[in-house]
Amino acid sequence: MRYISTRGQAPALSFEEVVLTGMASDGGLYVPEEVPTLTRDDLAAMAGLSYAEIAFRVMKPFVNGEIDDETFRGIVEEAYATFSHDAVVPLNQLDANHFLLELFHGPTLAFKDVALQLLGRILDHFLKKRGERAVIMGATSGDTGSAAIEGCRHCDNLDIFILHPHNRVSEVQRRQMTTVLADNVFNVAIEGNFDDAQAMVKASFADQSFLNGTRLVAVNSINWARIMAQIVYYVASAVALGAPQREVSFCVPSANFGNVFAGYMAYRMGLPVERFVIATNANDILHRTLAANDFSKQELKATLAPSMDIVVSSNFERLLFEAYERDGAAVAELLERFQAEPTALADAPLSRLRERFASHSVDDATILEVIREAHHRTQEILDPHTATGYRAAERERGDAAVPMITLATAHPAKFAEAVVKAGFPGVPLPPHMDDLLEREERYSVLPAELSAVQQFVVENRR
Ligand SMILES: *Cc1c(COP(=O)(O)O)cnc(C)c1O
Repeated sequence: MRYISTRGQAPALSFEEVVLTGMASDGGLYVPEEVPTLTRDDLAAMAGLSYAEIAFRVMKPFVNGEIDDETFRGIVEEAYATFSHDAVVPLNQLDANHFLLELFHGPTLAFKDVALQLLGRILDHFLKKRGERAVIMGATSGDTGSAAIEGCRHCDNLDIFILHPHNRVSEVQRRQMTTVLADNVFNVAIEGNFDDAQAMVKASFADQSFLNGTRLVAVNSINWARIMAQIVYYVASAVALGAPQREVSFCVPSANFGNVFAGYMAYRMGLPVERFVIATNANDILHRTLAANDFSKQELKATLAPSMDIVVSSNFERLLFEAYERDGAAVAELLERFQAEPTALADAPLSRLRERFASHSVDDATILEVIREAHHRTQEILDPHTATGYRAAERERGDAAVPMITLATAHPAKFAEAVVKAGFPGVPLPPHMDDLLEREERYSVLPAELSAVQQFVVENRR
């Protein structure tokens, strides 16, 4: 199994190389050269297995023997032992044939833990084998930073530096990062906004000379291993509801498209999926593209579902590569045009997408209405991201006999602002986190200057 770029120019890589690399040198994203198959028998044999065992079986072909089976099994078991629910990602029946897949039982209460608990351990494994160390740098406005920190805190060969805008993330989100007091974890509060922090991370990746040869690794959702880890819960939940004998549909609250692309991979591997419903908030590029063939950037809107606030969906490129029948030159041409001006997909690729994907966009007022309505009907308090999914699933579900699985991407306690605005007193943090507001914090405040940040990294990395 080799990995190739969606723009067709960069060299093919092994699994180990692709995990350490991030973006391809031609500006594209890496995808597997062939899609491995899960036969009906493979799927049937997964009924009743633990999440870790299903994860091992689904991911093994992508790892391609580059980690031996016993070691990889150990990595997978350790990663998912950090989840507070024995099922790791339990299904919760909401109403007739509509299920919530609760992806928020990991250390930071959002679905990014599923991928980052695994990615940190895989990176550390490869670095140890090579006798190398690496530095991770990332900028966060909240969610991803804490999940990356939790995923790397036990990694001997990794030092992680996460930049957040000083005084501009919520207290819960800041504390989820700054109360991790591990020797390899460095939180930097930048005296600036999120864009300043992100610009400094981008500049550091573009010119890594300040690190004198130490590898800089990206753990954002363009890293293939994150997609790979997310394929698993589509398979596990469909099998729990009767696959391969029964088809299911999924509704996915979406932003960078990493999550729903993983579902599409599960489908391509052989999972019987009737449709994928893409839910967006008011930042609706995915919905505009699918529904109106309007593939254009619009200004960023701050919404009640902040982890879905994006202008461009980076992983959508991976789906475009499939829709354009793996024509890297056509994808490169389309994306270059898209960067410059509003554009549209060609007819044939668009109709291919519409065969399997539906979409719906949900604004802030509707998010609040859905949180109230879902509580009235099901007694569940949904987080605002999951609320977009709940509404989109109801609007676009198609055949009511096909079970609909809506992905619950965050715990409602993490996004209390929306829950309170919807008229509820709030949601308590789960027991293992209820002392979060008393824990000791550690972070450094730095000016929004590239040289200051890079000097901090160089002085503190181990
Ligand atoms: C990251 C995130 C999303 C969006 O996921 P993508 O893979 O970027 O589409 C949705 N909800 C929550 C809570 C998130 O943290």
